[in-house]
Amino acid sequence: MNKRVLVKFSGEALAGADGYGIDTQILDYIANEIKELVNNNIEVGIVIGGGNIVRGVTAAADGVIKRTSADYMGMLATVINGVAMQEALEHKGLSARLQTAIKMEQIAEPYIVRRATRHLQKGRVVIFSAGTGNPYFTTDTAATLRATEIGAQMLIKATKVDGVYDKDPMKYDDAVKLETITYDQALEDHIKVMDDTAIALAKDNKLPIVVANMNEKGNLLSIIKGDYTKCSIVK
Ligand code: UDP
Repeated sequence: MNKRVLVKFSGEALAGADGYGIDTQILDYIANEIKELVNNNIEVGIVIGGGNIVRGVTAAADGVIKRTSADYMGMLATVINGVAMQEALEHKGLSARLQTAIKMEQIAEPYIVRRATRHLQKGRVVIFSAGTGNPYFTTDTAATLRATEIGAQMLIKATKVDGVYDKDPMKYDDAVKLETITYDQALEDHIKVMDDTAIALAKDNKLPIVVANMNEKGNLLSIIKGDYTKCSIVK
């Protein structure tokens, strides 16, 4: 049986230096990394965030826009990123299918788990967008949920850092990287891996979460092949 993984990219990961919008060169880089996986017979699902366009909490901050509406705006943002990601994958010659948790059939297939797994078995990359389809959740939770539903062996959270640290490595020189973390440690306040809902769901379903540096070329493939030097694992 082929290996199956789910890779989560934050919306910010798609943005260029200004932190907003979509940088096609970054998309192209990500598509290359995903192609490496597919070429190695790994079945790949992708969840993308929307933080480079709209984040619900931020959009609702001053009370003009209700939180539920702001969250739907955020979910739509993930669809925008999903359309772009699908294009980038196809540009690299891969076969890709975008699915949405909220129906918009002119743009993408509705999310149907059995259909998604069939695509994966055929070597197509499936992008799961619109989060869970519900306000008050995050795309990290959506990634955990989809990874569990499709029976992925691991969820890789692609980030800008090599893993999880005991404190923010961008701020503190003496931050120590934690190679392995338990789900309960990940639920502690000072360690930010994912939100508590996502961690609790992963814990319940014994889904390993790997936090990895996406800017390290070839890292995703190395991790799936068992090299855990440039990442941290929550299990
Ligand atoms: N969102 C939501 N329900 C979900 C997933 C996402 O309401 O199941 C909304 C929420 O407003 C969130 C936004 O979509 O702020 C974008 O997702 P997220 O912040 O997780 O993106 P990332 O930080 O990964 O870019």
